[in-house]
Parts: sequence; structure tokens; C-alpha cells
Amino acid sequence: MNAARKQISLAMAALLAASLCVAQRSDPEIARQIAAIQAIDNHAHPVLAPPLDASDREFDALPVSSLEPQSDPVALRPDFPLLGAAWKALYGFDVPLPLDAQGIKQLQDARKKVAAQQGEHFPAWVLAQAGIGTMLANRVGMGRGVQPPQFRWVPYVDALLFPLDNGALAAVSPDRTEFFALESIVRSRFLKEAALSAPPATLAKYLQQVVTPTLERHKLGGAVAEKFEVAYLRSFDFSDPSRAEVEPIYARWIGGGQPDGAGYKRLQDFLFRYIAMECGRLGLAVHLHALGGFGSYYSINGGNPLLLEPLFNDPRLRKTNFVLLHGGWPFVREMAALLQKPNVYADISSQSLTMTPHTQAQWLREWLEIVPEKVLFGTDGYPYSEQLGWPEATWIAGRNARQALGIALTGMLEDGEITRQRAGDLARMVLRGNAEALYKF
Ligand SMILES: [Zn+2]
Repeated sequence: MNAARKQISLAMAALLAASLCVAQRSDPEIARQIAAIQAIDNHAHPVLAPPLDASDREFDALPVSSLEPQSDPVALRPDFPLLGAAWKALYGFDVPLPLDAQGIKQLQDARKKVAAQQGEHFPAWVLAQAGIGTMLANRVGMGRGVQPPQFRWVPYVDALLFPLDNGALAAVSPDRTEFFALESIVRSRFLKEAALSAPPATLAKYLQQVVTPTLERHKLGGAVAEKFEVAYLRSFDFSDPSRAEVEPIYARWIGGGQPDGAGYKRLQDFLFRYIAMECGRLGLAVHLHALGGFGSYYSINGGNPLLLEPLFNDPRLRKTNFVLLHGGWPFVREMAALLQKPNVYADISSQSLTMTPHTQAQWLREWLEIVPEKVLFGTDGYPYSEQLGWPEATWIAGRNARQALGIALTGMLEDGEITRQRAGDLARMVLRGNAEALYKF
């Protein structure tokens, strides 16, 4: 190759590389704007303030601590470098990773000291450290320090889908054995709140005395959405049976015995649609765990958001807003297409914890280029482990999400797709404006 031709081909390679690359880091002015916005966190699991934090288990209906081991993502391992940055920022605790037993004890002491200083305000203090003004608290119940206006309630309703004997479903995997046992605790709670000692004998009475009153009670208790972790329990392929078809299934098995599997699935399908319609009537959004994880037995295929398309296309459900938590990962391109449905939203919770900003920025940019009004900030702050507590997870995810947003917007600005003014508007929309509009805050 002669020198001139070599130079031309090098220049072309550089051009091609530039066109394939997303921006590597955020424009400083965009980063400043993003840092100044008090965010609304669409999804997290805050733990109650001390002294109730030690015994609180209501941060999840299905705590992940009960799962069998899987190959953990790097961000959930004890040597993840950002953990150290979070400890330093939150508690002034600066010890090299990974911690030994003594280091863990020192970390616990450092965390306890700050929590004791803050007392009941500790959960709100955690939000302030992460630049979060309001957090949607996905919890079985609210409690000390986790209260409005900083925290808004998102309760769980999966237990309503499974009123019959769940023995066969529970036997599918060790994780599901744990999950269905936990769901029966929530179901007992719903029955008790409905002043019933056993489920009613007919489906009509179950809907009237248990399902609708539970949703109405949640609404009265301040709920802004209902959360389904159903992807941990069965697949997203909800069919559309008539009430007449499933009434005999309910009546036949509600008193006990192993229900026929296909019939029981149809009953769950009917109940899911009924609950989603009731949520629309009550002005509650429907939150769905939509993420390929966690747990070694989790069905990634069964949690493909595309399986939900018939629900999104059901005219009876157009008053119900569905929020796919965790952005449907790994089905992030399918998610972009689904955002075109008028009642479908996505948040970036959890992926903001486990993905690097650069990786997340790629599909975040695609979403922002298609339907930016439906994209919501989120952390999935959760007490994952002794070292990665909910404060650390919230802090790390908040930091990553802001960086990812900065990279995505910088790329769009550099490519002439948006103005600086629009970049600032989009940042505000993702971090809080879209949630304000969706939940009517
Ligand atoms: Zn979560």
C-alpha cells in the first residue's frame, strides 16, 4: 500500500470508529445539570429506620437472600470497586477491598454509627446522599422512617394470583419452594385484612371480598402502584379466558386438592387481567419485575416483555399504565419498541446497579431517541448483602444512572440530534418529570 492510500484508509478507519462510538463521558455542563436534579427513584426497597432495621423483612415479598447460589454479576461481588467508593462517601469508611471478617465488623460499626446519629431520618438521609428527592418504596408495608413525602408506597399483589393449592408450582425448583411459602404469608395477610379466615367459596366473592378490597386498601394507604414479581413465579404468557370459563376451576379447587395445572394457569391469567383492570380504575400503575435475574432457576425466556404485548394491546387495559422495571434487560431493544404502546413505561433500576454507565448508555440513548417521555430513573436500592446494603446500592446505582444519562445525552448533542437546551430538558424528564407526570405528583 503506498503512503497516500495508507493515509486515506487510516482517516476512513478513524471516521468509522468515531461514528460507531458512543460518547465516552458526559459533557461537563450536562453533567452539572444532571447532578443538580433531585431525582424521583421509580423503584427501590428501603429498609426501616433503626432500631427496626435489624428485624425488617418487609422490604421484599420474596427476599433474594433465600435464593440458591448463582454466578453473581461482578457488581454484586464483595470486591466490586465501587463498593469502597460508596462506603467512603456514605460513612467515611475507607478500607481496601475485599473486607475480611474484621473489616466487615468495622463497616457494620461505621454504618451503625451514622444510622444512630440520623435515627428515624436515616432512610431520608440516604436519599439525600444520592440526590434523590422521592423514592418509590417497593415494600409489603411502610414503617418507621419510610414514609411520605420522601417515600411513596408500592405494595406487592402476586399473592392474589395464586389462591389455590400451590404445591405443584412450588415443586418446580428449590427457589420456587421458598417463594410460594413466602407468598402464602402475604396471602394470609390479605385474608386477615379482609376479615376472612379462609378464601371465599366462589370466584365472584373472592374478587368482591378479597381482590378489589386489597387494591382499594392499598390505594387508601397511599400506594401509587402495585408490584408484580410474577416473573419469579411463572411466565408472562397471560391468556385471556372468560370469567365463566374459570369460575368452575376456582370453585372446584378452592377448598383444597391439587388443581389441574392448565386450568389453574387460566385462572391466574384471568386474575392478572382483572387486577390490572382494577388498577386502571383506581389510578394505580402496574409495576412488573422485568429483568433476566435474579436466581439460578429464574426463567429469562418466560420474563421476555414481548410476552406481555397482548395485555398492552387489550383495549380494556388502555387505562392501566404498565411500568417494566429494570428496563426488561436483556430485552432492551424489544423494550424500545414496546415504549410506543401508549400505556407502557420502562425504568433503568437494577441495570443502573449492575451495568457500567457506558454499557447502559447505549440502549438508554436508543430509548431517548424513540419515546423519551416513558423512561424513568431508578436504582433498585436493596439490602443485597452485609456489604452491599440498600444505602450502598442506592448510591452506586444513582451515580451510574446519572453518568449513563450524561453519556447518552452527550452523544446525542455531539451528533447534532438535540440542542443543549433539549439535553437539559431530557435529563429533567428522565430523572423526575416523567415520574411526576405518570404518578400525578
Ligand atoms: Zn426491586
